[in-house]
Amino acid sequence: MEHVVIIGNGIAGVTAARHIRKKSDKRITIISSESKYFFSRTALMYVYMGHMRFEDIQPYENHFWKKNRIDLIEDYVDEVDFQSKTLKLLQTPPIHYDQLILATGSKSNKFGWKGQDYHGVQGLYSKKDLDLMEQNTRGIKEAVLIGGGLIGVEMAEMLLSRDINVTFLIREKTFWGNALPETDSNFVTQHLKRHHGLTLLFEEELDEIIPDDSKRVKEIKTKKGKIIPCQFVGLAAGVSPNVDFLKESELEIDKGILVNPDLSTNQKDVYAIGDCAQFKTPINDRAPLEQVWYTGRMMGETVAQTIVGNQMNYKPSHWFNSAKFFDLEYQTYGRVWSELKENESSFVWKHDKDEVSLNFVFDKNSKEFKGVNTFGLRLRHELFEKWLTEKASIQEVLQNLKTANFDPEFFKSFEKDVVDAFNHQFGESVKLAPKKWWRKLMLDKV
Ligand SMILES: Cc1cc2nc3c(=O)[nH]c(=O)nc-3n(C[C@H](O)[C@H](O)[C@H](O)COP(=O)(O)OP(=O)(O)OC[C@H]3O[C@@H](n4cnc5c(N)ncnc54)[C@H](O)[C@@H]3O)c2cc1C
Repeated sequence: MEHVVIIGNGIAGVTAARHIRKKSDKRITIISSESKYFFSRTALMYVYMGHMRFEDIQPYENHFWKKNRIDLIEDYVDEVDFQSKTLKLLQTPPIHYDQLILATGSKSNKFGWKGQDYHGVQGLYSKKDLDLMEQNTRGIKEAVLIGGGLIGVEMAEMLLSRDINVTFLIREKTFWGNALPETDSNFVTQHLKRHHGLTLLFEEELDEIIPDDSKRVKEIKTKKGKIIPCQFVGLAAGVSPNVDFLKESELEIDKGILVNPDLSTNQKDVYAIGDCAQFKTPINDRAPLEQVWYTGRMMGETVAQTIVGNQMNYKPSHWFNSAKFFDLEYQTYGRVWSELKENESSFVWKHDKDEVSLNFVFDKNSKEFKGVNTFGLRLRHELFEKWLTEKASIQEVLQNLKTANFDPEFFKSFEKDVVDAFNHQFGESVKLAPKKWWRKLMLDKV
């Protein structure tokens, strides 16, 4: 019987295993050195904050794997011999594969900062990191976070939930300024500033982490010479593909493992999926590396098809993502770059009191809708997917805003304001669609 081996039991690896099992009788083995059972990495923060226990973030019962004939090995793969199709592990005898799926995820970036390995200094990626953070933050009062991104915000929320004061060192002028347009990033900054105990220092970088006699962090120094006392330093300056153990092999690697459209690599019968995969040629306007949950799941589903004999290319649709900045919800559909492209215009509408902001991007000339960032309210994914695919105009999108809105009661009073503001700013005469139109649109498609 053919043996499919998967390195990595994150969302990408387990999705591949589940879908291969649905469609075939192949022998399947998943190897991970992090934990025996799959858990939801995105929910780690809730364990620290006491909202859930670790077992609550494991989506499958432990007996699921045996029942589905998926073997689990908790061990580290030290080396892959692609010629003999053999894996060398630290504690388990070598394993032969017929097909290999690399789903090894990411690791927290460490940029060689002075003092980055002292006690009390860490990133947040793995279960081990969570346990370490539990130990490292017990009884402390002050923390510093390096890097203003989504994992940093989660760490800040976690620390504040335990009354630990947090200072954020952010290299950019505004929060998450390399990903968000300035106006959105200022909006997020204002929201973050409302949280007692959180200090944001912009255009500041870490120079050095300074320890006490026991090699535990006691303060940090910034590049501008500021000294900040702290007992914990969170490294939240992004992640990169976890591929170091493969670097000396014949596998083609750039930042991640280079893959073709069907997720195959340059080695026979070897595929890469999830955070560790990098497309040789980016698909449409998607980035070559996309380190988010749902893309890992989609790649897992796709590679499973190929493994069971229905060769399939990965075809992601339009970019979307969502996150939370404490209690501020963020969604993005389509492409809203941090800087507008030459042919693009944007229309921003804000309601400061209710903390709602919408940033629509469209083509200056054709008026084609390109993307939207929303804060403080939720819009319907299916509808934006449809509009982006059909290359709808910005006027059509605004006209049907009622249909797009997920929280109709809340949004009711804003729709007219949004459309009026757009008409005023761009000399347009968009009218909100009458109720029966948007009902019909919902029935038609969504
Ligand atoms: C704190 C946090 C919050 C996040 N929040 C969000 C969010 O809200 N939304 C979102 O879309 N994304 C979020 N992400 C990103 C998301 O979790 C990842 O994109 C996703 O989990 C990656 O899945 P994966 O299956 O590719 O890899 P991983 O989940 O990283 O799994 C890879 C596994 O392979 C194991 N492994 C690697 N090498 C070896 C080896 N040599 N031998 C044995 N085992 C090995 C690793 O230990 C790991 O267990 C978050 C990430 C973090 C860290």
